[in-house]
Amino acid sequence: MTETTQVKISTAFLIIIFLTLILSFVAIYFAIYQFLLKQEMDALSWLLIGFIGLSVATYMLYQTKRRIRISIKPQVVMTTLLCEKCGFKNLREFKRGDYVFKETDEKCPKCNENMYIAAIYREVKETK
Ligand SMILES: [Zn+2]
Repeated sequence: MTETTQVKISTAFLIIIFLTLILSFVAIYFAIYQFLLKQEMDALSWLLIGFIGLSVATYMLYQTKRRIRISIKPQVVMTTLLCEKCGFKNLREFKRGDYVFKETDEKCPKCNENMYIAAIYREVKETK
């Protein structure tokens, strides 16, 4: 739910960055053109605008790239298996049909008893 909206925002953001990039290149091109053909010092301000736009767009692109990488990351659901006999804990990825307190076919590596599901939780991987 929140992931898709986040990606949508990022897409709109990318378009804005792309437009900024194009405008920056146009400004730089315009500056060079004016400077070479008309020898106008006015061109320097265009060049400045172009470079500022370019650096802002690059910076924003870098920021969005990082944000997208975080938001697209698939959510991992983990299941904790527990051995009633010896208390051995095992962690594995969630499988369809898993529920808390369900006895599984998975054996305890220590005492060969069937393990039961102690907890199911979503692993939150957020890098700051
Ligand atoms: Zn055990």
